[in-house]
Amino acid sequence: MGTRFLESLLKVSEKAANIARVIRQDEHLFKLLVQEKKGSEKNPRFVQDFKTLADVLIQETVKHDIGSQFPAIANHIFGEENNMFSNILGDTIKVEVQEDQVATASLLSMVLSGDIQAAEVLAVEVHRNLSVEEIDTDNLPQLTLPLEQCGMWIDPIDSTSEYIGGEEVKLSVGDIYQSGLQCVTVLIGVFDRISGQPILGVINQPFHSQHGSRWKGKCRWGVKFGDLSKCSTSLLSSTKDDRAKVVLLSGSEGSNLKSLLRSAGYIVAEAAGAGYKQLCVACGDADVYVLSKGSTFRWDTCGPHAILRALGGGIVSYSKVIDVDKSLEESELNYSEREGQSSGPLHCNHDGLIAFRDSSLLHELILILRQL
Ligand SMILES: [Mg+2]
Repeated sequence: MGTRFLESLLKVSEKAANIARVIRQDEHLFKLLVQEKKGSEKNPRFVQDFKTLADVLIQETVKHDIGSQFPAIANHIFGEENNMFSNILGDTIKVEVQEDQVATASLLSMVLSGDIQAAEVLAVEVHRNLSVEEIDTDNLPQLTLPLEQCGMWIDPIDSTSEYIGGEEVKLSVGDIYQSGLQCVTVLIGVFDRISGQPILGVINQPFHSQHGSRWKGKCRWGVKFGDLSKCSTSLLSSTKDDRAKVVLLSGSEGSNLKSLLRSAGYIVAEAAGAGYKQLCVACGDADVYVLSKGSTFRWDTCGPHAILRALGGGIVSYSKVIDVDKSLEESELNYSEREGQSSGPLHCNHDGLIAFRDSSLLHELILILRQL
């Protein structure tokens, strides 16, 4: 069962990546994605835009495919997006994958104001049967997860602004992109609802490399459950040379933090996308990702967190380790229902975070950050 579950997650993440690629590569869909509608041009029937529909459709595809194959987890699959579309009269339509391609296309065309062409292209991808050859099954472990006590978080398209805008800018630091389609990720994370620990994560990068006008994706996974730690072979083979340590930040961090890190000898790099920044840490392209603000949510971190744990790293709360001097174990982000719901926006990692692969480096970094 366990291998099949992971295999199914990889397949559905690939299906999600296909949908994301098709929307950018199909001329008609791409126009819908990038057009800025104003006033009377707006979809007269539905308030939400096409970008939101793309997000919701990917999320619902993951929910549908996993929920129908693994009923034990079906009622505990959560996503960033609300799947209710509403019009200005207050009528609502629920976007869900239907029993077949025709029915899904017909539902989508309702939200798309009768745009059958767009609805059909999307429905084909949603109902496509991926073969096992389309995913990388190298190194997949035998595992038995207690799915009845697990939950799942989905971020259908992390870094939406890069997804829509998409101009490529390469950083000087190794292979890290500051912006562009490479920063777009599909994030799926499975957590234990009792312990709140993330146990299995998938990061699919739909736009990893370009071949002519076509994009190829890349998918990484990791599992940390009990004594079992396993991940994609490509993550294990990443070799770190003796370059200076690289800290990834989002563009919104203040100059105090940047100059403190630089004066301590770190290379400071910026990149778009929480999912992408965590991926860079997991790959070893960056050493840590520091975020001092509460601008990520559980769907942004659950999957990458599981992968980092599989590699011996993790994600801790920024405020807890810096301000409160809590142990790393007490500071680790947790996904149980009661955590994070007492104050602030629901499901927000409101104390910021530090994502790391190597805990000795984290200790060193915490001492530096306490000087702020
Ligand atoms: Mg996100």
